[in-house]
Amino acid sequence: MAGRLKPVSQERLAQALAGFTGRLRQLRAQGFSDPALTASFRARARAAKLEYLSRPAFYLARLAERVEDEGGRVHFAGDAAEARQQVVAICARAGVSRLVKGKSMTCEEIELNPALEAVGIQATETDLGEFIIQLAGETPFHILGPALHRTRREIAELFSRHFEPVDPDPKALTALARKVLRERFLQAEAGLTGVNVMACDSGTMALVTNEGNGRFCSTLPRVHIAVMGLEKPVPTLGDLALISTLLPRAAVGWPLSSYVSWLRGAAGRSAGAGPREFHLVIVDNGRSRILASDYREILLCLRCSSCLNHCPIYIAAGGHQYGWVYTGPMGSVLTPLLRGEEGDEDLSQASTLCGVCREKCPMGIDLPGLLLRRRQEARPPLHGLLPRLAAEMLSHRELFQGACRLAAPLLKGLSHLDDKHLPPGPWRGWRRGRRLPPMSGSTLLGALRHSKDRTRG
Ligand code: SF4
Repeated sequence: MAGRLKPVSQERLAQALAGFTGRLRQLRAQGFSDPALTASFRARARAAKLEYLSRPAFYLARLAERVEDEGGRVHFAGDAAEARQQVVAICARAGVSRLVKGKSMTCEEIELNPALEAVGIQATETDLGEFIIQLAGETPFHILGPALHRTRREIAELFSRHFEPVDPDPKALTALARKVLRERFLQAEAGLTGVNVMACDSGTMALVTNEGNGRFCSTLPRVHIAVMGLEKPVPTLGDLALISTLLPRAAVGWPLSSYVSWLRGAAGRSAGAGPREFHLVIVDNGRSRILASDYREILLCLRCSSCLNHCPIYIAAGGHQYGWVYTGPMGSVLTPLLRGEEGDEDLSQASTLCGVCREKCPMGIDLPGLLLRRRQEARPPLHGLLPRLAAEMLSHRELFQGACRLAAPLLKGLSHLDDKHLPPGPWRGWRRGRRLPPMSGSTLLGALRHSKDRTRG
């Protein structure tokens, strides 16, 4: 879509981030003010997810059966390309040309919007923040505040360019967005949502939102497509109820979100309201591989954003620096596992390992432990060679003295070189802007001997 906004200044980003994450930290503290209740929630939620992850094939078969009993269809997608094809094929069969979308990180992960646009389907994001960044052609800045980096003036400029002139007043902007989106909801033949959690014993899915747009997407159009990561189900409806309250507590400190919808199957066979068709697309895209690895604990993640809001690195750097959909400590673990592009491994270095993310995670995921494991695995094969050589040299005096004699003139020469004349090599970037201290003419040992001789004399 036309009309890019100017890049945001670093100063403004820092202010917006500090304000937003600070508010969320306060709210979360209120939501978990009772330590006994927090511990009990965490233990029960972990147990439920771990039970599902211990027998996913059994539980998924049960889930598929329940969904189909309720008139829905279940599709399994091995990777992102297959998931995109399946959604496009469902739309083609149902004659869908306009689709409304609720917020879904799994859909961002599989890059669904470009695939829909490529076949001529108009896909409109309906979460207000997502709607803004879709118009701006940007990626989400924060799970809960995708457009928090944009001011109301910039949003007014964007809306005026796309729809009609509007003042930079929050009420006017919301009213215009509502007017445009209502039209889209009424025109859409299909609604597409993510899934926050799904119960295998009944085929019930929960959608947790604070704008009610998820409810419109899932009930108004004649086709509802839900795209779910393979890790989202839990065994029972009781587990679903537990996670439906744990998620908003961890995210914004509320015991329940403004809109919580529990949905089951299609209304196609009854005269009641609701979609005539329901399709559940279950996406693997690397999750089975994670399940079989030492990183399986990350599959407990609820995408609540609590670890982001408490992470000193995320608060200073912001979401865009992580380079993909998943950000903060959980993103630093998930991105290399799910995407695995060159450079993704560096994300494990973006942590102080202070442990606050583990402490604030409602599922008690050992994020620092997982990050440390990634660091160890990502080491280049010769990584340990240098420390071993140094240890060898330091434990043999002759070797050490010989190395010093060789290094002294070399370092002296290098310390005089300016940035332009540095020899090539990986240390060049590090040396740029830094100066080596001048080499002393004598060694510590030599100086000690000299002073001893003088005392004797
Ligand atoms: S890792 Fe924990 S704190 Fe972070 S988003 Fe996932 S559930 Fe929330």
